[in-house]
Amino acid sequence: MTNPLLTPWDTAFALPPFAAISDADFAPAFEAGLTEARANIAAIAGNPDAPTFANTIDAMELAEQTLDRVGGVFFNLAGADSTEAREALQTELAPKLSAFSSEIFNNQPLFLRIETLWRGRDDPGLTDEQLRVLTLYRQMFIRAGAQLSGDAAARLTAVKSRLAVLGTQFSQNLLADEREWFMDLTEADLDGLPEFGVVSARAAGEEKGAVGPVVTLSRSLIVPFLQFATNRALRQKAYEAWGLRGANGNAADNRAIAAETLALRQERAALLGYDSFAAYKLEPEMAKTPAAVRDLLMQVWEPAKRAATADAGVLEAMMHADGINGDLEPWDWRYYAEKRRRAEHDLDESILKPYLSLDAMLGAQFDCANRLFGLEFFPLDVDLYHPDAMAWEVRRGDRHIAVFIGDYFARGSKRSGAWCSALRSQRKLGGDQRPVVINVCNFAKGDPALLSYDDARTLFHEFGHALHQMLSDVTYGFISGTSVARDFVELPSQLYEHWLEVPAVLEKHARHHATGAPMPADMLKRLLAAGTYDQGFATVEFLSSALVDLAFHEGAAPADPMQMQAQVLADLGMPRAIRMRHATPHFAHVFSGDGYSSGYYSYMWSEVMDADAFAAFEEAGDPFDPATAALLEKHILAAGGSQDPVALYTAFRGRMPGVEPLLKGRGLQETV
Ligand SMILES: [Zn+2]
Repeated sequence: MTNPLLTPWDTAFALPPFAAISDADFAPAFEAGLTEARANIAAIAGNPDAPTFANTIDAMELAEQTLDRVGGVFFNLAGADSTEAREALQTELAPKLSAFSSEIFNNQPLFLRIETLWRGRDDPGLTDEQLRVLTLYRQMFIRAGAQLSGDAAARLTAVKSRLAVLGTQFSQNLLADEREWFMDLTEADLDGLPEFGVVSARAAGEEKGAVGPVVTLSRSLIVPFLQFATNRALRQKAYEAWGLRGANGNAADNRAIAAETLALRQERAALLGYDSFAAYKLEPEMAKTPAAVRDLLMQVWEPAKRAATADAGVLEAMMHADGINGDLEPWDWRYYAEKRRRAEHDLDESILKPYLSLDAMLGAQFDCANRLFGLEFFPLDVDLYHPDAMAWEVRRGDRHIAVFIGDYFARGSKRSGAWCSALRSQRKLGGDQRPVVINVCNFAKGDPALLSYDDARTLFHEFGHALHQMLSDVTYGFISGTSVARDFVELPSQLYEHWLEVPAVLEKHARHHATGAPMPADMLKRLLAAGTYDQGFATVEFLSSALVDLAFHEGAAPADPMQMQAQVLADLGMPRAIRMRHATPHFAHVFSGDGYSSGYYSYMWSEVMDADAFAAFEEAGDPFDPATAALLEKHILAAGGSQDPVALYTAFRGRMPGVEPLLKGRGLQETV
């Protein structure tokens, strides 16, 4: 039997022949892919010819073609349609793939070839894109420790493996604390909770084996409890337990882990020759330096604090009118903010949703891409991996651009959340390879499927990532599509969300699924106005977390992170009724692995950029201004990582982003 993963795909658009692939085909295909890749890498490293860009970097770019192809299918299925066999294989594969990547970074002859090319980088024969790819390859090797040897290399390995253990422990402790705590509720304690809150409190009670309903520390339970429960003493008790996760002085206490983690990260950065861990982490990002991050965050901090302080006054007055004296406390904020929201912006989801069917919102997302970039979408009748998944051919004029797959409904075999990935990325090296891009979401299935406004926003967000992949026009896969810096990658996705807020888009597409009637004007107005509600609070709780994260990684590691956290908040003048979105002992972004350490800022960084980028269309007087759209495509969507993001953004906008459009978008500007 031939393995369908290893033979040419003679299908429409060379899509994977899903029906012919069985789970048993993956393990041998990965083995074959790894064997091929190892042989290719050995041949490159051992090539007796002097290093050239073609015999080194081009060759490395094409060394893992089978692995890429098999991995493209497998990892998409493992996320979107998992089975026990796929999960088991994923666990089995992880150490094999990480061993292979360590082999590459520890391959000294290979690194020396890259170093030789680097010394000759002034070679006028190199294109700008090649120089950028060479720079990134070398940076990747150095950051992985390729320049270290002997004791330093051994110590780096030891530090990395200890950090991995600490990251896992941090997550497990957090889970343990979240699992352990719950609070029994009487029927009277449910007062104020809406139907869905009552239902989930009862379900949680059953799950915990309690006599009645309970509130737990899961965000989906505790946030509604804090928003709606009228019993202030219970809100306080629940809020305090939530804030103490990871800091209860029990076996699951995370404070010592945080301190050790920060010390080891500084050591890791020092071994690699960086001044601080933040300097190491930010080097490949658009921000580049801790000072640039702080500068941007602080420009937003003061207006956000002013807005939050003004809101606190309104909420406190509401509380006093309720007969409760004294200061507004953190366990009061969500409760009074929710009351105020209902008074000022109430929107009944059940009346709204019929105007936001999935079909209507798909029509909107495709129509915007057509008006901006001239793309057309034609439904494809092809075999995919699950009957819920749909595919379109994307064309511009008579040119094939991509295949786009949408897999939108929740099911047990799909991991939670929403994401964009590719079965195949765009590149020109080794033949013009057109992308196959997937958006995966977890919307409730229905007939017809109706979205909430948040769902519709998610749909547009993921489609923005998809456009970044589909419109990519580069030579090297290494820098194709969304292969860009972390603080740049959310620009196309968050930017695309803005078109959902263009009134003309909803006026045209948000039509009642049964009657075809457009959304009533008043509903549309309320919907669009709700976006800026309570943003002072949200911005303050986010920024305080981001600034603590930055301070932790900027200089010598603090002996007592909790003391440093308190100092940063005091210096900021943190409003008393707002606390960090994630305090240190449960700041999983920062301590459950490296992903967002000194990187939590990047959400805000991207938002500053997407607001500023959309303002370019507003300044042109047309949300679909063709000249601005052409610049966006050329310098951002088509460019991938082919240049430094600062250069790309500046080419698009003529300057670096400013914070004013974000402040306006979050409704923080009027209080300046
Ligand atoms: Zn995203």
